[in-house]
Amino acid sequence: MRDSAAVTERPWNDLPRLHVADIELPDEVERLYDLAYNLWWTWSPRARELFSAVDSRSWSLYRNPVQLLINVDRPHWQEKLEDDAFRTLYHRVIQALDRYLAEAGDAWFARTHPGVQGPIAYFCMEYGLHQALAIYSGGLGVLAGDHLKSASDLGVPLVAVGLLYRHGYFRQTVSADGRQQHIYPDYDFTRLPVRPAAGPTGRGVFVAVPLPGREIHAQVWVAQIGRVPLVLLDTDVPQNDSADRPITWALYTPGREMRIAQELVLGIGGARALAALGIEPRVWHMNEGHSALLQFERARRRLAAGESFAAALAEIRRSSVFTTHTPVPAGNEVFDAALARRDFAPWCAATPVDLEEWLRLGQIDHGEPGQPFNMTALAVRTSARLNGVSRLNAEVARPMWDHLIPSDAPEEERLHAITNGVHPSTWLGVEMQELFARWFGERWPQVITSEIGRAAILDNSDQDLWEVHLEQKRRLARFLRARLRDQFARHGLSPDELRGIEKMFDPQVLTIGFARRFATYKRAGLLFADLLRLRHLVGNRERPVQIVLAGKAHPADKAGQELIQHLFQLSQSETLKGRVFFVEDYDIRVGRMLVQGVDVWLNTPRRPMEASGTSGMKAAMNGALNCSIADGWWPEGFDGSNGWVIAGRDGGSDEAAQDREDALALYHLLEEQIVPAFYERDEKGLPRRWIAMMKEAIATVTPRFSSDRMVAEYCEKAYLPLLGND
Ligand SMILES: *Cc1c(COP(=O)(O)O)cnc(C)c1O
Repeated sequence: MRDSAAVTERPWNDLPRLHVADIELPDEVERLYDLAYNLWWTWSPRARELFSAVDSRSWSLYRNPVQLLINVDRPHWQEKLEDDAFRTLYHRVIQALDRYLAEAGDAWFARTHPGVQGPIAYFCMEYGLHQALAIYSGGLGVLAGDHLKSASDLGVPLVAVGLLYRHGYFRQTVSADGRQQHIYPDYDFTRLPVRPAAGPTGRGVFVAVPLPGREIHAQVWVAQIGRVPLVLLDTDVPQNDSADRPITWALYTPGREMRIAQELVLGIGGARALAALGIEPRVWHMNEGHSALLQFERARRRLAAGESFAAALAEIRRSSVFTTHTPVPAGNEVFDAALARRDFAPWCAATPVDLEEWLRLGQIDHGEPGQPFNMTALAVRTSARLNGVSRLNAEVARPMWDHLIPSDAPEEERLHAITNGVHPSTWLGVEMQELFARWFGERWPQVITSEIGRAAILDNSDQDLWEVHLEQKRRLARFLRARLRDQFARHGLSPDELRGIEKMFDPQVLTIGFARRFATYKRAGLLFADLLRLRHLVGNRERPVQIVLAGKAHPADKAGQELIQHLFQLSQSETLKGRVFFVEDYDIRVGRMLVQGVDVWLNTPRRPMEASGTSGMKAAMNGALNCSIADGWWPEGFDGSNGWVIAGRDGGSDEAAQDREDALALYHLLEEQIVPAFYERDEKGLPRRWIAMMKEAIATVTPRFSSDRMVAEYCEKAYLPLLGND
């Protein structure tokens, strides 16, 4: 038994966890264990340098410190311990981690809101923290990951909840004829930076969720994100029937029955997991509707304590926040009435309220019989703070949901905008981080995310910035060539052809990047609408252009997969080959390489379908210039001199006309403005006008679209007012 003093001394966010990995470390470097299991390393370049110094081959192969430490053997450690530089680096990194963890009391939240207690529970279906923990598919997950990182940096008392997917989201390869192939890796959790939560008797922690005829059990795991714990549920445990174990295998599984089971585990199981860990959140934040069933569980507990249904619902509403990311009705999570009735019934039987009453909370139109169960409707009805993820998105989403909010609710309880942001230390290239450190000293993260940083950035040397940009571009070139070589070797190209790849991708050439999910509304094909005009652009002798594409289409999205095939085949066509590249397996790593290494970031959604978009923010912080439709975040970000707006046609019913006009506007912009500006050089070979725009992009986008600003805004507009409610 643990003595009680040790238990009370332990901060609430340092949850006891079991040891599962086969890691044996010499005493001199034993703290590598703590470092490996705190995903703080994902945004600390020095920590990653340390892991690489342990074993650079193993590191570049896995980029996963737990796997790395499992692999290292005794003789190798002997060698390392004799290396002074290694030991110095080790101590520096461990000190930095300890300092980071100890300084919570000096962080923004404690300074600006002394004495305010949390925690705030944050629920999401996916988290994109690093490619080594592949429990995300795209933008939503990466946004949630950045939210946790900034909450940690700012000292916000937050605990996150999600699912631990054994097969994650698929990994993509593309065959020689351009077909997307789906690979589902089989992750061994004991080799990932997550550990099972430890219960009071030193065993694992499990929760159960009732489904028809059985209970689903889930084991509780914890990933540590700086100061923020991320609680993850896994149903692949021996207590479950072999048919139920796969519930948490795959992210965004298309099967509706599997999906509703996942969302029961996330919402109800997630709320139960926090209770089992002794955590009592004071505010609950649902990031998208997938987790909204947690409100059922919270209400159930109040009913069990003797509250009336109306009182219980009013109470949970007073402490709930909901964020919607989906401006089209079809994008919202909806379950068939019969399925919802069947799968909620066993849980409901343990409550004194009739199933129909619970179902009504998710029905948009109560009058109609057989209404489906809409997760967004449930979340909207049971939250006192609602937001979209950009101003434009909030304008579009507000009329979609306003009728579900009590008509006498005050203005602050209606849907507002809290625009997304991204975590600078995660997305800035190391070269750029070093430049900022040279310019502004150790406090560079504070400088570049503050409005005062602007003049400082504009004042600094054009040449420095351009050289660092070229360095990041050369890094992209090396990455791209290696990826293309692997891909084309698989396709059966000859050694001579593979050697030719080494000459591909010239860092001096204007490079346009486009990487995102291949959802139809994102229109990856817009740039390829007029091939003749495109060929003129890429094939120009003096002023050529090259294009790098990446992105996955959902396994059930045939149109998206056909688009990938079409674009891949174009990239192999005689006239575009060597100038248009398709990189496989878009993930956080590919994303980082691209936003750090391209000159122009292209974004062509069909307005107003893009809720926010965040990849353009990452690119701008690295000095890439956005060329974007005025959708999502860009109308807020664009200031006339930090990139370009594609002045196409506004949304309407004629999609073909919209696409045509948008494509014309895009070509015009490229031909008349973007290409000439990039190739306009002074006597030193510097594109002065371009660099001025890069600086403007860095200086304007970094402070306003950093996830620090976003999380602070969630605190001020949502969390803190609700924390004052109880
Ligand atoms: C940032 C990011 C996204 C989001 O990109 P959008 O332009 O917002 O669609 C998606 N996937 C990955 C891997 C990312 O890093």
